[in-house]
Amino acid sequence: MKIIVQKFGGTSVSTHERRLMVINKIIKAKEEGFFPVVVVSAMGRKGEPYATDTLLSLTSNRLKERNKLSIDLLMACGEIISTVVMTDELLDKGVDAIPMTGGQAGIITDDNYNSATMVGLDPNKILKALEEGKVPIIAGFQGVSENGFLTTLGRGGSDVTAALLGVALKAEGVEIYTDVDGIMTADPRIVSDASLIKEISYNEVFQFADQGAKVIHPRAVEIAMKGNIPLIIKNTLSNCQGTIINNIGDLNLNNIITGITHMSSRVQIKVALKDNENNAHYYSLLNILAEASISIDLINVFPEDNIFTIDGSDFDKFNDIMNNLNLKYSYIDNCSKVAIIGSRMRGIPGVMAKILKCLNLENIKVLQTADSHTTIWCLVEGQYTEKAINALHKGFNLGHH
Ligand code: ADP
Ligand code: MG
Repeated sequence: MKIIVQKFGGTSVSTHERRLMVINKIIKAKEEGFFPVVVVSAMGRKGEPYATDTLLSLTSNRLKERNKLSIDLLMACGEIISTVVMTDELLDKGVDAIPMTGGQAGIITDDNYNSATMVGLDPNKILKALEEGKVPIIAGFQGVSENGFLTTLGRGGSDVTAALLGVALKAEGVEIYTDVDGIMTADPRIVSDASLIKEISYNEVFQFADQGAKVIHPRAVEIAMKGNIPLIIKNTLSNCQGTIINNIGDLNLNNIITGITHMSSRVQIKVALKDNENNAHYYSLLNILAEASISIDLINVFPEDNIFTIDGSDFDKFNDIMNNLNLKYSYIDNCSKVAIIGSRMRGIPGVMAKILKCLNLENIKVLQTADSHTTIWCLVEGQYTEKAINALHKGFNLGHH
């Protein structure tokens, strides 16, 4: 049985017209001899009636602290609604389909509500449906705990569901359908002439995803890579060939840079020794933050200063900790961490120099940099994010030719 997992994101299932395009993709897969297993997200984006954020806005922030289980139960409804609507419309088109919650599809998780991890997968109900000639329509982003409560896998979790199912079912591939043609050299909402990357390695796309390109969830890339299953990103609204993610990667060896992405809402923190002399906590600050699960990056430790960034959502917690320890610090908030990604830049001199020159020409101040074998990061003030990304995209000649 040649199984293919097809995942359709929120915008793909948001309107009747778009769902007709989804149905075409499912029918086409069947015509090509595949047994499609479909994963759907909640309909639409923030503000639309059944989108995850809209559902969340029905409850108070207090509920989150009092009873996490309720939040997961509420959030899981969005995807469940999608499965039923899709099934209805597929039946209309003569395609036999059956809706399933994540739990019914066999996804068992731990009970770490809000960002649960799969601990087991029993594909029998899916396989039974396929044997009966039905297309299983599975609610993404969710599972069920061993105690029988609904759990969710964290934002973007439908991609994770698709990858998990692809591996468990030994599928021929996992297709992630979204509202862009595939993985581009930059977010097409930011760079208008971003170009499509036709083939890319798991490793590189993981960097992209992990550094903020939300087109695919980094966990999904990891799972597909471990399971050695091809991952394909495609556009529901076009017939574009999309992006194939595999072990080989980009064949365009001329470009040392593959693409650019960013993470916004970073806060740069500076803790200076001269402001904190005689404070015993100064030297163990990084430990204290780790214990409080505040993750930090772009860490530069100098004899006289500690400089690092935190996520804006951790700032209040960070500030409380610093006040309790009587540690003084300065900060720049609303920064963006721009990531320039390319596994071929390893060992090539002058890349950092070129990056700094591009940004300098646009009068964009670089607050901090860091680099690894595959990525160079530049921290810039948030207001310059789009300008910086466009300047680098142009400087490295990544646009349409
Ligand atoms: P879905 O609802 O289908 O899961 P997402 O909103 O999660 O869709 O992801 C698709 C979006 O990712 C695109 O609309 C695009 O704006 C954004 N994006 C960010 N970086 C990139 C990139 N490098 N290539 C393609 N899309 C990107
Ligand atoms: Mg997504």
